[in-house]
Amino acid sequence: MKLTNDKSCSWINDLPLRTNIKTLSVNQECDWLIIGAGYTGLSVARKLSQLHPSQKIILVDAQLAGEGASSRNSGYLVDTTLNDGFTSNKELENYKKKADIYELGIKAVKKFIKEYQVDCEWNECGKYFASSKSEDQKILLKFSETLSKLGYNHNLLFNNELTKKLGTSFYTVALHTKGGILLHPGKLARAMIDTLPDNVQLFENSPLLDWEKNNDIISCNFNNEKINTKKIIFATNGFLKSLGIKSNYNFPLTLTASMTRPLTDEEFRALGEPNEWGVLPVKPMGATIRMTKDRRILIRNTAEVHDPSKMTQSELDKRSIKQKLGIKKRFPQLPNDIIKSSWSGIVSRTRNSSQIFEKIDDHIFAAGCYNGSGIGVGTLFGEQIAIKASNENSDEINIIESRSKPTWLPPQPFLNIGVKTRLIFERFRSRSDV
Ligand SMILES: Cc1cc2nc3c(=O)[nH]c(=O)nc-3n(C[C@H](O)[C@H](O)[C@H](O)COP(=O)(O)OP(=O)(O)OC[C@H]3O[C@@H](n4cnc5c(N)ncnc54)[C@H](O)[C@@H]3O)c2cc1C
Repeated sequence: MKLTNDKSCSWINDLPLRTNIKTLSVNQECDWLIIGAGYTGLSVARKLSQLHPSQKIILVDAQLAGEGASSRNSGYLVDTTLNDGFTSNKELENYKKKADIYELGIKAVKKFIKEYQVDCEWNECGKYFASSKSEDQKILLKFSETLSKLGYNHNLLFNNELTKKLGTSFYTVALHTKGGILLHPGKLARAMIDTLPDNVQLFENSPLLDWEKNNDIISCNFNNEKINTKKIIFATNGFLKSLGIKSNYNFPLTLTASMTRPLTDEEFRALGEPNEWGVLPVKPMGATIRMTKDRRILIRNTAEVHDPSKMTQSELDKRSIKQKLGIKKRFPQLPNDIIKSSWSGIVSRTRNSSQIFEKIDDHIFAAGCYNGSGIGVGTLFGEQIAIKASNENSDEINIIESRSKPTWLPPQPFLNIGVKTRLIFERFRSRSDV
């Protein structure tokens, strides 16, 4: 498999160029092999190194570490979600289990940034679930009831009050949750790479092509090299399925996003100089939109079934037009040509929005599939799957394993037909807020 990511993600372009990149060039043997160096794989590596300081740990990635979804996301470290896609949050007990996992995820990221003094533009400003349709107030009132029962601090806002906060009169109603955090996803991923312990060897631009288990050893084939390992942890998220991991339980979706240049003083003044904010849609296929600390606007308003290994420039350009229109709808006073970059990224989904945290056998483990909310949960699951793979236990593992497991998905072509039909339906429902 060759991953050809576009080179235009603003979050990645904000970072200094790395110079210490090593590619797999000779055969290796190790105690632990981790496939995928996003938040999950990087956290697995950090934890394994603490647990087994004298063992050989190898981490590989098909592209540059951290430059998959982990640096390409919208930077919401969530405490609660309203839409996980296709399921509703009706059952309070299930919702609480999910929110408990989000809380543990926030704690895991917080601990990491505190321990390593990481600057990732952390802002505990909460987040808005907002809609331009006043009838969506009903959905938000129901959500508010759930949050009140669970003790989450939140409040409802309307029209002018929202315009003042966001600098746009597009939205008529919103629910603000106080617990969410906004951050720079690329800076977080880069910090995880820069602080990798010495007993972790990282090989980049080294895609795993196939693997097999022979007795107690797992043999992995790369372009011209092999790695034989005693234990393997798959942390490839949207690419779990392509490596044959839990294939009937997860599927990839491609998201695209665009970011503007920083607004000028004059443009920013015209919006009323709002503080940094982040809006998530009330209906699943509406736009995620953020005003960053340095006055850039980020918008993500597509999710689709697409070849996860690449998106051509012309395909990306078409999606960028949709994002330009999304910005124009909300900020008609801004010029037309302020989008600086557009990019795509892969997320992994399950049918019932449950994540994958799995011992496949004594030697093979997998964590991933965060349904679009993987900053905190990925960091948490990475650490905890390392503990589980080391035959240890933790309170966190008990909480993670008490949630419902992903449910079975139909085989192709029925899966794609089903997902595409659902996306069309959700796009129609959300059309005013794209
Ligand atoms: C546009 C966008 C917006 C998002 N917004 C948010 C958000 O606001 N908040 C949030 O919490 N989450 C968000 N997400 C989801 C979040 O980014 C992911 O859940 C998270 O990055 C998952 O981390 P990960 O390490 O499991 O996977 P990834 O970051 O995808 O890392 C997996 C790695 O595996 C590597 N890999 C794949 N196949 C192979 C192979 N064969 N051999 C070797 N390596 C391989 C890939 O190159 C990749 O680097 C968003 C995602 C996208 C794309």
